[in-house]
Amino acid sequence: MIHRPIQILLVEDSRADADLVRRLLEKAPFGPFRLTTVDRIAKALELLSASPDAHDVPIDVVLLDVSLPDSVHCSLDSLSRIKAQAPELPIVLLTGVEDEDLATAAVRLGAQDYLQKRQIESSLLGRSIRYAIERKQAEVALRESEERYALAVQGAHDGLWDWHLKTDRIYFSPRWKSMLGFEDGEIGEEPREWFSRVHPDDVMILKAEISAHQGGGTPHFKSEHRMLHKDGTYRWVLSRGIAVRNGSGEAYRMAGSQSDITARKLAEKRLQHDAFHDSLTGLPNRALFLDRLSMVIAHARRRGGHPYSVLFLDLDRFKNVNDSLGHHVGDELLVAVARRLESLLRPGDTVARLGGDEFAILLDDVADGTQATRVAQRVNRELAEPFNLRGHEVFATMSLGIALGASCDYERPEDVLRDADTAMYRAKAAGKDRHALFDRHMHDRAVALLQLENDLRRAIEREEFEVHYQPIVSLTTGELEAFEALLRWNHPVRGLLQPESFISIAEDTGLIVPIGWWVLREACRQLAEWQSLYRPDRPVPVSVNLSGKQFMQVDLIKRLKKILRETQVQTGSLHLEMTESTIMDHGEAALAKLSQLRDLGVKLYIDDFGTGYSSLSYLHRLPMDALKIDRSFVSYTGDSGGRSEIVHTIVTLARTLGMGVAAEGLETAEQVSRLRGLSCQYGQGYFFSRPIDRSAASGLIAGHVRW
Ligand code: C2E
Ligand code: MG
Ligand code: MG
Repeated sequence: MIHRPIQILLVEDSRADADLVRRLLEKAPFGPFRLTTVDRIAKALELLSASPDAHDVPIDVVLLDVSLPDSVHCSLDSLSRIKAQAPELPIVLLTGVEDEDLATAAVRLGAQDYLQKRQIESSLLGRSIRYAIERKQAEVALRESEERYALAVQGAHDGLWDWHLKTDRIYFSPRWKSMLGFEDGEIGEEPREWFSRVHPDDVMILKAEISAHQGGGTPHFKSEHRMLHKDGTYRWVLSRGIAVRNGSGEAYRMAGSQSDITARKLAEKRLQHDAFHDSLTGLPNRALFLDRLSMVIAHARRRGGHPYSVLFLDLDRFKNVNDSLGHHVGDELLVAVARRLESLLRPGDTVARLGGDEFAILLDDVADGTQATRVAQRVNRELAEPFNLRGHEVFATMSLGIALGASCDYERPEDVLRDADTAMYRAKAAGKDRHALFDRHMHDRAVALLQLENDLRRAIEREEFEVHYQPIVSLTTGELEAFEALLRWNHPVRGLLQPESFISIAEDTGLIVPIGWWVLREACRQLAEWQSLYRPDRPVPVSVNLSGKQFMQVDLIKRLKKILRETQVQTGSLHLEMTESTIMDHGEAALAKLSQLRDLGVKLYIDDFGTGYSSLSYLHRLPMDALKIDRSFVSYTGDSGGRSEIVHTIVTLARTLGMGVAAEGLETAEQVSRLRGLSCQYGQGYFFSRPIDRSAASGLIAGHVRW
């Protein structure tokens, strides 16, 4: 609204008419009015073209006589010229004649009103001028707002839609159409132009969202869905809108925008993919695996025992590949294994990489353990084929553990995975490259083992270990020849434990190394004591078992020397027992180590002989003093079967190689006489004595027993 006198430019050549207008304006409402009069259109244009500061207040409205000397008579030529000069100015036409056609044409050309000079009165003129100004202002504001909106829409790159619900026609803006690859004319106004292009999986929810808003259930309509592009691919769009309602709240129109959000959706998808997949192999990761597993568990519980299985897979000796061929080859192997595993599965199954060389498979909807077992066997078979990686032929095997969802009432996915893992360890322990099925018993065992491992870590400092001694007897003289030192664990709760129940854990955890050193020191200390007490000239030697891990320690010789020096054990009275595999696993390095041990004056035994895979040619190069024939062969010597022949062969072999030979596990007089008959030099077993504690062993030495 203008709060000052309204400035009027009157363009009128007739002085009488100009006076008339002036007089009328003096009495007119909505004033006051200030009048500037010109008698030619050219003068008006000149005035309007002058810069605003040329006249102190700007013109608010033009009163224009249609027939001026310098305008084409009775045409709207003057109106057009003024409009061109000042498009923002409202114009009211004045004419001497009544001409409806001219009036209509003038309004269409942009005049705000049309008055006949002879009929105007003050009130009509005042109101007409006022309304002309206001209408023009509203028109300008509307146009500006429309322009602003059009600009915004263009800039925002959004498409528009405007749906007239009564006629069920939708206006789609050109941008809406081009977003889907169409020209303006290629898409009509029917709702199906929209809905038929929505992805079948999204259309139901889109329609539900629209009707929820139309029914007043939501303040805005908003939907993300896929739309079919002309090129046959789907684009993600965000459609937003709002309904216009009548007095009773019923929607009669709905309008809104559509934006292309494909890029955002793709980025989201990528982020989501990365969060749930392993970057090396592209397989689902542990998080995704657990997520799927928990869904399967929930499903199974709902339907009451619907079965599923989880396989836990671990590459055997993967560290060897990494260490010998490098991490690149190791990585390539993991990728290649992933691809092979994928090729084995049905569409609904999931294979994931849990980390390192561990994988897992989820088999949904399998009838029983046979299906899982079959998959496990197929995995082992498939992996038998070598992988060709950077020119290396690499062999990989896997150990697999299976947990069946049907047999246990699992609630948490972690528990299923844990049990499959436990079964996998069983498969590893049973010799690798195979599978094992989990049962409850295994779980209890796993828990007990974990407890045992924790206890074992503290056993040395709590002084819970002791060494027992089992006599090794000369089969020719019946005299005590030596003792074998055997470890016992005085467990605070479970009592005296045999190595069978804890040595393998000690091996797996590496605890065997400190424990082994403890045994060595303790045995040497005992040896030195016996040596000084009873037979300083010819002490009874003690034989100590050496684990593979301890054998390969770099400072083995140094530490052993130190113990021998500190305990002052006589050279030759310490014997060390090692299994064939301890020696074979370390090739030439083992040979060098053995020679160094021998140089220290320590006597060397091959323990459990016959159970390993020593090659004869290799055996002959080993600087060993004697073989101990494994118990499993000795206990069969009563039979006429092939095993007694083996004992014969080993005794002969030892003699040929210039080594001594001892038989383990002699339990009966029969076995003893048979071994004696085969000229086996030494024997050890329950027939002579069980392993005994140190005081009992001292008694044996002091008493000069003979068997
Ligand atoms: P090994 O070195 O072969 O020890 C002989 C095992 O045979 C001992 O079992 C002994 O008690 C048992 N044995 C002896 N005579 C007979 C018999 O007539 N009949 C039967 N059935 N068994 C007999 P133990 O003491 O349970 O030790 C088992 C294994 O644990 C040992 O086998 C050895 O490999 C390992 N071990 C024991 N102490 C140590 C140790 O201090 N360090 C290491 N690294 N291993 C040890
Ligand atoms: Mg032994
Ligand atoms: Mg043995």
